[in-house]
Amino acid sequence: MHFETRAIHAGYDPFDHFGAVNPPVFLSSTFAQSAPGKHQGFEYARSGNPTRKALEGVLASIEGGEHACAFSSGLGATDSIIKLLSAGDHCIVADDVYGGTFRIFDKTFKRFGIEFSFVDTTRLENVRAAFKPNTKMLFLETPSNPLLKVSDIAALTALAREKKAITVVDNTFATPYLQRPLELGADIVMHSCTKYLGGHSDVVMGAAITRDEKLHQQIAFNQNASGAVPGGLDCYLVHRGIKTLGVRVEKSCDNAEQVVSFLLEHKRVTKIFYPALEQHVNHDVAARQMRRFGAMISFEIDGSVADGVKVVSDRKVWTLGESLGGVESLLEHPASMTHASIPKEMRAKAGLNDGLIRLSVGIEDPRDLIEDLKNGLESY
Ligand SMILES: *Cc1c(COP(=O)(O)O)cnc(C)c1O
Repeated sequence: MHFETRAIHAGYDPFDHFGAVNPPVFLSSTFAQSAPGKHQGFEYARSGNPTRKALEGVLASIEGGEHACAFSSGLGATDSIIKLLSAGDHCIVADDVYGGTFRIFDKTFKRFGIEFSFVDTTRLENVRAAFKPNTKMLFLETPSNPLLKVSDIAALTALAREKKAITVVDNTFATPYLQRPLELGADIVMHSCTKYLGGHSDVVMGAAITRDEKLHQQIAFNQNASGAVPGGLDCYLVHRGIKTLGVRVEKSCDNAEQVVSFLLEHKRVTKIFYPALEQHVNHDVAARQMRRFGAMISFEIDGSVADGVKVVSDRKVWTLGESLGGVESLLEHPASMTHASIPKEMRAKAGLNDGLIRLSVGIEDPRDLIEDLKNGLESY
């Protein structure tokens, strides 16, 4: 079956539950046994419940995987994935991964003796040079945040395999509708389901998906042992979100293309980061591995931090906020928000200029999005 059919039907059989078209929300923390160890597949809800099982089934299916584990957040998933490693192991990580991913590696797991090298994974030579005899994992995020850099998943996973390391891809920005890393050779895909999979900004959740039975067993062990599991209602919400993933992502991409066309013509916009543009440094790789180019856009204005603040403040349609991937369009100004704690010189070195603005384009009418953005750009 094809993607959108699987997104609606995989993982769940209505006739397991009285014909209910939607998976029931199970709120039981424990399950009755008729004799010790005799039960219908569930014992205690940290190790599993039927609502979570249905969601894990559809997650595995839409990523082209065999197995999935759902977590109480994206970082909960990352936590259980990195615990596949042991003290003394080395992990190569994309240098512009999500801030929370960097933090848990650099501040938590480094203390437990895991070594990390943060490298620009858009350049294969850099990654090749970073391998050491104890390298066990390559952790990628593509497209990345907020500059939408794109790494070549097929080439990098082939390199990691040659070096006997596994590859993990954070597929949050692209979604499995646009990009399927397992089909390109990755061993594990992780998601912040908080973003596009949930899609309505009403749930925090994460997932880890693989085809490898042994890796799955280890991740599922960590999921149960560490216990960052989602509740039944949250599983239901993400499952419902996944049913409309295809149509939402298509509409968001259509809208994003129109917003980019508008930005290209606006005199205050000096630079646009969007992988569909031929001038984008990784356009060719993106065109090869993604179905469309997504709905995240960053751009620079010719202005100061204060001007950037003006552009994003008091918008009528765009919501000023962190996060992304919901039906509503969001915008943010990294220099005064997500990246404000980084000194200006370091921000500039990483390409995060004072006038950089990041958009997560939702599914409103694009005319309203463009008019509101125009008013913002002309407010200083
Ligand atoms: C939000 C996000 C995460 C973290 O997920 P949470 O659900 O917030 O824990 C990880 N990676 C990316 C790319 C994200 O956008």
